[in-house]
Amino acid sequence: MTAANFSLEANSNFDQVYPLPETLTTTASIKIASLGVHYRTQEALRDVNCIVKPGRLTGIFGPNGAGKSTLMKGILGLVPLSSGHALYQDKPLKQQLEKVAYVPQRSQIDWTYPATVWDVVMMGRVKKTGWLRSFSGVSRQLAKNALERVGMNQYRDRPIGELSGGQQQRVFLARALAQQAEIFCFDEPLVGIDQKTQTVIFEVFHELAAAGKTVLVVNHDLGESITHFDDLILLNRELIATGSRQEVLTQENLYRAYGGKVIYFDDAA
Ligand code: ADP
Ligand code: MG
Repeated sequence: MTAANFSLEANSNFDQVYPLPETLTTTASIKIASLGVHYRTQEALRDVNCIVKPGRLTGIFGPNGAGKSTLMKGILGLVPLSSGHALYQDKPLKQQLEKVAYVPQRSQIDWTYPATVWDVVMMGRVKKTGWLRSFSGVSRQLAKNALERVGMNQYRDRPIGELSGGQQQRVFLARALAQQAEIFCFDEPLVGIDQKTQTVIFEVFHELAAAGKTVLVVNHDLGESITHFDDLILLNRELIATGSRQEVLTQENLYRAYGGKVIYFDDAA
């Protein structure tokens, strides 16, 4: 069966398997069908099928090297797919990146780049404004509001490289907010941050989800922060399980994803 055949079937099945709240249309989910990625000869992801719903905080979990970053990049078209696709409103998501705010993993950001906090947040407005046009008052107000929301407005003239890891992560969160996206994708935002930043980050994630946005977050740590997530995608080079946190967090699924390294189990699940 070809990938194209498969995807048509998968799309019609998704809505039956995961019924959406009546207030949300099914087209507003990200539908990931038969998605595979190869890096040269290595297969990083095989045949991933899942949906990411609006109005929910969805976590992509799995051990190091499980393909979490690859899945996020794959659905955004930042790495080529060897099979399958990711659709949003029935069109490839990679063709609608103006609706997406993406914050990559820390290690992929050049922290020596000579930009101030304000520059970084205003970069979130470039697509809406265009490089050659000056930023509007609306853009400046959105950037200021976003920095205030994450408690970083007083740092606006600081070079980004001089901030702590938590402060840097809050600046990138502010940039994502200023973008006024529909879909928010964060890769390992909790790495190297302080407790205050973690609190702010989850407050903002919950606000975005409550406003009907799609919030997709890569995380590998099975600590208490997992209880913030509504839905989970559990990976280890292939899909281990997906659905609500309670459905996914079983001993068997965790063992299949993490092997003997599981150190946390959510008793409430
Ligand atoms: P995770 O984010 O879950 O730690 P990744 O998606 O980064 O995992 O990587 C999945 C696998 O693909 C790993 O084995 C990794 O070494 C490999 N990989 C990731 N990026 C590349 C790349 N650009 N070229 C070759 N292999 C890669
Ligand atoms: Mg990663």
